[in-house]
Amino acid sequence: MSGGWRIARIAGADIRVRPSLLVMGVILVIVFAPQFDSLGAGPNPYLTSIVFVLSLYVSVFLHELAHLGVARWFGMRVPMVELHLLGGETHIEGDSRNPWQELATSVVGPIASFVVGIAALWGAQATEGATRSVLWSVGFINVLIAIFNMLPGLPLDGGRVLRALIWAVTGSESKGVRVAGWIGRLAALGLVGIAISMMFGEDAFAIGRALLLLAVALFLWQGASYALQQGVALARIGSLSASSLMREDAPPAGAVPISVELSGRDLLLAMAENPSDAYALVDDGGFVVGTLFASTVDRAYREAG
Ligand SMILES: [Zn+2]
Repeated sequence: MSGGWRIARIAGADIRVRPSLLVMGVILVIVFAPQFDSLGAGPNPYLTSIVFVLSLYVSVFLHELAHLGVARWFGMRVPMVELHLLGGETHIEGDSRNPWQELATSVVGPIASFVVGIAALWGAQATEGATRSVLWSVGFINVLIAIFNMLPGLPLDGGRVLRALIWAVTGSESKGVRVAGWIGRLAALGLVGIAISMMFGEDAFAIGRALLLLAVALFLWQGASYALQQGVALARIGSLSASSLMREDAPPAGAVPISVELSGRDLLLAMAENPSDAYALVDDGGFVVGTLFASTVDRAYREAG
């Protein structure tokens, strides 16, 4: 399904490296080497730059491990952690998700980056030369990652936090997705504006940094758009209920019984467990109250939203 390489398996999650991570790594080494050179950091600025990029990736991995750890602690399934262009992404699945678990799982990533950043900056104070330059850069960027990730737009962690808060207040996950998704798109447009203004800088590295920022903006836009699409699907699923789609006809002989109280995701899960054309809807007492046709649910899903 996804390109790249599986480098490890931690707590049941495949750790995958996407090709875009390597492309970004090479670009970062090339962009940062002249800056390390101008700082007079070490005999070989490219070696310093490679050590810097590897340290940066380790700190990004720690950010994702924080997401993974808390999600697993809540008993959620985490099939995959991806490391890519913009850092990483922890794919979380689980039926027991609620807004507060979502909030805690999201916020630990930026907290991890902030702690790593402060530790590296503190370490930079105690060292000198190339080590000091690398630690200072890793520290600075991790604090920046922590702040940037707390912007309240999807797919950033801050967007997940906002989605969780709106979900908690309104009870509607899809409403949270819509608001946080659109803020994510606005943040992407804002970054494009900043990148364009940076292109006219006097600094020799201005173009390189502006292009990096444009790549981040593109990635953010795609992530926000994907989240908005998922939000539409969520809203459609949320609008489905067995009782409103029920026919009063008697179910065909041997139809699988499911509860008439089911709705949304639970209804689809119950149907997926026993794929069939028709289901016998039963009340709390186990009495058959009507029939649910799979084709009716299918049509309602497509016509919803
Ligand atoms: Zn994160």
